[in-house]
Amino acid sequence: MSTISPEIQALGENFRGELVHPGEPSYDDVRKVWNGSIDRRPGVVARCTGVADIRSALAYARRTGGPVAVRGGGHSFPGHSTCDGGVVLDLSLLKGIRVDPVRRTARAQAGVLLGELDRETQAFGLATPSGIVTHTGLSGLTLGGGIGWLMRKYGLSIDNLISVDVVTAEGELVTASEDVNADLFWGIRGGGGNFGVVTEFEFRLHPVGPIVYAGLVAWPMDQSPDLMRFYRDWITDVPDELTTAVIHRWLPDTPTIPAELHGRPVVAVVACYAGPVEDGEKAVAPLKAFAPPLLDTIIPKPYLDLQSMLDPSFPHGRWYYMRACDVAELTDEVIDIAAARGLAIDSPYTAYPIFHLGGAISQVPSDSTAFGGRGSGHTINFVGVTLGPEGFEEQREWVRDSWRAMEPHQSGVYVNFLTDEGTDRIRSAYGAATYDRLVALKRKYDPGNLFHLNQNIPPL
Ligand code: FAD
Repeated sequence: MSTISPEIQALGENFRGELVHPGEPSYDDVRKVWNGSIDRRPGVVARCTGVADIRSALAYARRTGGPVAVRGGGHSFPGHSTCDGGVVLDLSLLKGIRVDPVRRTARAQAGVLLGELDRETQAFGLATPSGIVTHTGLSGLTLGGGIGWLMRKYGLSIDNLISVDVVTAEGELVTASEDVNADLFWGIRGGGGNFGVVTEFEFRLHPVGPIVYAGLVAWPMDQSPDLMRFYRDWITDVPDELTTAVIHRWLPDTPTIPAELHGRPVVAVVACYAGPVEDGEKAVAPLKAFAPPLLDTIIPKPYLDLQSMLDPSFPHGRWYYMRACDVAELTDEVIDIAAARGLAIDSPYTAYPIFHLGGAISQVPSDSTAFGGRGSGHTINFVGVTLGPEGFEEQREWVRDSWRAMEPHQSGVYVNFLTDEGTDRIRSAYGAATYDRLVALKRKYDPGNLFHLNQNIPPL
């Protein structure tokens, strides 16, 4: 039996949700995050049911001075949504979603996962840009920017944000939008969880699908240098409706992939055309004609199927390590490094996507949100994966070697793909001018740095 401190007892008197302490039967379940390599033991997990609970938990954190971790979907690669000691503000019970099909907007609470929002919006043939794995949290993804299969047509998740409700470090509930608390709204769009706990998001929606021309086409990995050179030329004038990523990996052992291809090293292109299927067929035809593929699943399919296509590759509980960077272009050197790092993969789980950015992302002025990568051509994330601790160090080495090989060519990094890499890297994710503006905002909204378990912008 654990002893419950008087402070936690006092919190319990003012809390509607569930407070889970060490020693309770559900403690090991609720303290878990997506990345199995992160194993931390919070002093209490505060499973909030609303703003009042969030304010109570923040008051507790201020009183006790312990760390406070804020958890939406729990998918932070470096495990920022949990802590040793202190309190985890677990927002996963906040699942409300309201779609307004007439105004084409949606309100979603902080515990909503991407697939849950897509399901509600697709009921009306609508969607807002989000990420590529359905069990990722909408909160953390949006606050860092939010890249995904609709981004070149409709921008980042933050480019579709209309307003947010935020509980500040002092426990005040404020709305932020272009018209109200505009400075906070600027910072929330890319600045992560530095400024408060977002309780609700309001998004603009667009007509998408429900059938889109999308999927994956794959060739043997040793064709990567040729494929990537072809791809580089091809994407120079593809329409913004088309978002693609090149992926190097071994084909996974999943039911949608023929058994004879399981474990086959491939270079693949994932594509999504956010427009009429016939236009998508035309846009993707040159890619399909590059060379006879091993596998081609780019066909008309429900947008929801595309969104869940990569879920089996990123299940909860595996051990993950990631390093990432942006590159301005796919130069010959970048392509040769990318191909060599693909051929050096020696695990069925390790993989790395190179996302094509540009399009609508680059049309938003850089200083209108805190997101730092508007001018980047591509964003790469090297992801080393194992089933558990065995072999994890070797996969981490592959990730570090890959990142070091790409380092001379990098042009920045997407903040949601950072691991714990220090202040200089966070600064380079934003660029100096944006970073300085974020520091000033942090001084205004969280001068005590209560929210420091994140890609932290210290208020100094
Ligand atoms: P959590 O771990 O819950 O939170 C991460 C951090 O966000 C917290 O530490 C906190 O600082 C902050 N935070 C979370 N919720 C709130 C809140 N309500 N208020 C204030 N701060 C909060 N990113 C993309 O852009 N596109 C992708 O396609 C994509 N795919 C991914 C797929 C997988 C499998 C994974 C693991 C990550 C992916 N990411 C992607 C990165 C993702 O955006 C980040 O990991 C993000 O932090 C996940 O959000 P979350 O709510 O699940 O994270």
